[in-house]
Amino acid sequence: MSSLQSVALARVKPSATLAVSARARALQAEGRDIISLGAGEPDFDTPENIKAAAVAAIQANRTRYTDADGIPELKAAIAAKFARENGLTYATNQVHVAPGGKPVLYNALLATLSPGDQVIVPAPYWVSYPDMVLLAGGEPVEVVGQEADGFKLRPEVLEAAITPRTRWLILNSPSNPTGAAYTRAELEALAVVLRRHPHVWIMTDDMYEHLIYDGFDFVTMAQVAPDLYDRTLTVNGVSKAYSMTGWRIGYAAGPKPLIDLMRKVISQTTSNPCSISQWAAVEALNGPQDFIPERAAHFQRRRDLVVSMLNQAAGVTCARPEGAFYVYPSIAGLIGKTAPSGVTIDSDETFVTELLNAEGVSAVQGAAFGLSPYFRISYATSDALLEEACARIQRFCASLG
Ligand code: GLU
Repeated sequence: MSSLQSVALARVKPSATLAVSARARALQAEGRDIISLGAGEPDFDTPENIKAAAVAAIQANRTRYTDADGIPELKAAIAAKFARENGLTYATNQVHVAPGGKPVLYNALLATLSPGDQVIVPAPYWVSYPDMVLLAGGEPVEVVGQEADGFKLRPEVLEAAITPRTRWLILNSPSNPTGAAYTRAELEALAVVLRRHPHVWIMTDDMYEHLIYDGFDFVTMAQVAPDLYDRTLTVNGVSKAYSMTGWRIGYAAGPKPLIDLMRKVISQTTSNPCSISQWAAVEALNGPQDFIPERAAHFQRRRDLVVSMLNQAAGVTCARPEGAFYVYPSIAGLIGKTAPSGVTIDSDETFVTELLNAEGVSAVQGAAFGLSPYFRISYATSDALLEEACARIQRFCASLG
């Protein structure tokens, strides 16, 4: 009997971040005391002015279909954002809006990948990149960097990974899951390699642009290397900067021929992102921006708390990243130890399962991000819960023998 599952889908795993948060929610619903550090989303509320813009959009009956890849007003707000914050000039017909960052990335891959085309994905990577590439018919090529520099892609590693079939390089800064961010000099060094290979396009996922700490200077590839503008898709969204994960608005800007292809994809798949969310996003991008650094300051303090407490957990080492709201600690010192339940910690997957069972802390295994033995924690939750979660992790690690 033939399988119900398509050949394309059979190559893909379900999203581990979504699975971990669904499991935490299910355990909470059963009455268990769970601290959920799995899927990453800001714990702050959507600002009042943005919510008011959505209510006004409903009252004004802006509730019908829109242009498939976004209303002109939102495209203009996005073009203005790129000019204001990144020094990048895009016309509105170079902008694509979709129901979240995920569809933006997927639309671009679907629009451009033919069977056998390769996409270079630096590991550890956000869970969905390789699987989206597979679903779109391409082949992910995973490359791992050095732990000492946040696993960031080095020029010589990029050079070695490029083949005649390379279509895209995906760059994500600040990174999910490590929080590491690329400096201008690091991007310039990658640009030198990319100039030698004009067939390689660059997809930069800048979703965590505004969650950046210690005065780090965020830059993106099209800005650093203007000569690569014609083959760079700059991806961003309102989810993280404006605490709007549930509203589902992601966007990208790039060369018009690519944006035209992405419009063809969205016109035959989802059609437009929610009209009300689009009007909320217009207000997010055009309205006051002063709460962004205030919220980032909270995240910076939480990062410091979590890094300090995790480094005090036996067998755990945790780097201090520049951005996002994740840390990616190593548990190399715990592999082979035995939990009080009798289970041997033989992988990061076993570690997060035992941690959840023993202490009710949910986190995501490094295997999901393409590099073990690590685990990812989202610190986008209150200081009190983070302190309690880290104390539980310390207790769990101390209990391993
Ligand atoms: N980007 C978030 C995370 O990695 C949301 C979940 C997802 O879509 O993967 O946790």
